Amino acid sequence: MNAVPSVAAQPTPKPQLADIGVSIDNRTFLSDTERLKLIETAWTAPDGFQWPYSERKDGNTIRKKYLGPQHFSGQYSVFAYSLAKQGVFCKPCALFASDRIRGVSLDRLVKSPLQKYDHLSGKDGYLTSHLANAFHEDCCSRAKAFAETVRSSAGTISHKLHTSASAELERNRRALGRIIQALEFHGRLGLPLRGHRDAGELPLHDRRGQFQGSTSTDGGLQ
Ligand SMILES: [Zn+2]
Repeated sequence: MNAVPSVAAQPTPKPQLADIGVSIDNRTFLSDTERLKLIETAWTAPDGFQWPYSERKDGNTIRKKYLGPQHFSGQYSVFAYSLAKQGVFCKPCALFASDRIRGVSLDRLVKSPLQKYDHLSGKDGYLTSHLANAFHEDCCSRAKAFAETVRSSAGTISHKLHTSASAELERNRRALGRIIQALEFHGRLGLPLRGHRDAGELPLHDRRGQFQGSTSTDGGLQ
């Protein structure tokens, strides 16, 4: 018999909001971006992760039933494993459920981690039954509405930034145009770009030189 416990020891977790178990304890402090990232990023096991298992009796045989990557992809990508709490949560439910629904307190997969892995998928599996739950569907709708709102407001901000950047680009283009015209003008007349005195202290009115004078005749580059 293997001495590995049913919930295997994990690499030391560093508490962070990307861990669903930590983030649900800090729901009110989560930024929209952090919340969106949690919902939309499928959980993947970190390097060195030891998949936990539960034991199930099959007649006289004890079988190990492992949690695996298949429980976090496709229709199961709403689930995430918390290293901090060593178990599985449903992300939309954990992040968008109210504390109580019709007097029923919420627990496994929502407020506390699922740590039994003996019957996860298939008929009446813990995960499959959860997905079929109306409560879960309701939380998924809230998560979807939240994602759309965040995206549309981010789109507005991005558009504003783009508009502001375009205006600055246009100003720079006009300034560059004036510099080029001045260079051409000086080139055609064979004039130097420096001031017309090369040595000694320049009187104040001479310091700008011909090039600076040419570029600022229409209001300067600023
Ligand atoms: Zn759920």
